[in-house]
Amino acid sequence: MKNTIEHYINDERVSRNDRYQDVYNPATGVVTGKVALASVATVNEAVAAAQAAFVGWSDTPPIRRARVLFRYLQLLQERKDELAHIITAEHGKVFTDAQGEVDRGIDILEFACGIPNLLKGDHTDQVSRGMDNWTLRQPLGVVAGVTPFNFPVMVPMWMYPIAIAAGNTFILKPSPTDPSASLFMADLLREAGLPKGVFNVVQGDKESVDALIEHPDVKAVSFVGSTPIAQYIYESGARNGKRVQGLGGAKNHMVVMPDADIDRTVDALIGAAYGSAGERCMAISVAVLVGDVADKVVTAVAERARELRITDGRDLKAEMGPIVSQAALQRISGYIQQGVDAGAQLLVDGRDFVPQEAELRDGFWMGATLFDHVTPEMSIYREEIFGPVLACVRVPDFATALKLINEHEFGNGVSCFTRDGNVAREFGRLVQVGMVGINVPIPVPMAWHGFGGWKKSLFGDTHSYGTEGVRFYTKQKSIMQRWPESIEKGAEFTMPVSK
Ligand code: NAD
Repeated sequence: MKNTIEHYINDERVSRNDRYQDVYNPATGVVTGKVALASVATVNEAVAAAQAAFVGWSDTPPIRRARVLFRYLQLLQERKDELAHIITAEHGKVFTDAQGEVDRGIDILEFACGIPNLLKGDHTDQVSRGMDNWTLRQPLGVVAGVTPFNFPVMVPMWMYPIAIAAGNTFILKPSPTDPSASLFMADLLREAGLPKGVFNVVQGDKESVDALIEHPDVKAVSFVGSTPIAQYIYESGARNGKRVQGLGGAKNHMVVMPDADIDRTVDALIGAAYGSAGERCMAISVAVLVGDVADKVVTAVAERARELRITDGRDLKAEMGPIVSQAALQRISGYIQQGVDAGAQLLVDGRDFVPQEAELRDGFWMGATLFDHVTPEMSIYREEIFGPVLACVRVPDFATALKLINEHEFGNGVSCFTRDGNVAREFGRLVQVGMVGINVPIPVPMAWHGFGGWKKSLFGDTHSYGTEGVRFYTKQKSIMQRWPESIEKGAEFTMPVSK
């Protein structure tokens, strides 16, 4: 009997009359479990549990909610390596990268522990004689998070610590590709003293997501995943009267100026293009090489790409692990062929890669891939490949580099490597992308700054986490108050003004 990965509702792991999907270890290709796929009835059960819990949790003082999260923080710190191992076992990313993922999730939790301060409102004394006006922010109710396979811990942690701290109850719908981390986090939250029903997990696919979007008691949906689904959720969420933040796909460029430090730039490109097998929404997938820097960079990256240590992510010497699934492997291979057919120069072909260890031969493996002379009309330039494929585009000058990036339909992250302060400043100001790095290849903002792209990389008005996250998970209320001593007698028929 396989390991069954169930839902988590009202502090209990439950299976109903579910369909199931296999869960793999992508390094070995072995099926390690089966995950339940929730029906509408199971989603309804989770929403009912969360709705019931909302009454007490939203009334709990923020400082007491924060204390539960502080205990959770402590538990997570103690057990974070176990969580990182779970990530590696189902996602494939190397263990140290999985540790980093957990750490970046913990950053958000630490931020959420400051919720009493974050929920402080504004107060104006004496807006009229004897009258005060103040604003406060209150939780929405039941909120849901739908998350992608590539960060099974960090991305849910962009959402639920802040949502819960603000007094909402939460339903997580993780990716069915690597679902086990969600249950580990649920168990720790219970151990930390979170009341039952405040955090729930429904495992599932489109059926469960649609049920969440259509449920009248779900007030907001945070989504992170590919652009077509982000757009779909944004549109269907709006139709159903919900707040939605839908973070989508990416095609992140790194501009290399002729004055950049070549060694450091190549280090940055290798890590940002091939780390986590390129399966990061902030991975660099396009290098924009300006002027005569191109030959130097391409030669050095090709050499390094061929030498990457690619093996089971549990091996501490691994620099890159497997691709997440057979389907993803085929999709990426298909893109590589499209690049070849379109006339790009394939310098390093990852499709040839075979792991040395016999027990890994059935896993989903691919090596680092490098294209030179890629041009903007090619599909490998326009579309998100989401694998270890770096496309180099050669341009004559900075203005052409900027124009290229600004014309791309995605606008998640971008980076510029230069020693020129004015170029750096102009780049930061003029680039049409939500998250910008200057000599920083993967500029994932810190917990209190908020994460979000522009254009087809984000549907909705607020970024994830940070103060934007607090705004997303709360609604503002304005209260005006006066006492009988200051009320003038007689009905007023004109628009009230300050007196
Ligand atoms: P995905 O869009 O396939 O799935 C994301 C979530 O949506 C999963 O929970 C999945 O079960 C659900 N889903 C899938 N198809 C659905 C459908 N038809 N209707 C309703 N729900 C559906 O994405 P993925 O492959 O898991 O993750 C990779 C993608 O996520 C990449 O495009 C990557 O760029 C993106 N991503 C973006 C960010 C960001 O912050 N912008 C962060 C991480 C990942």
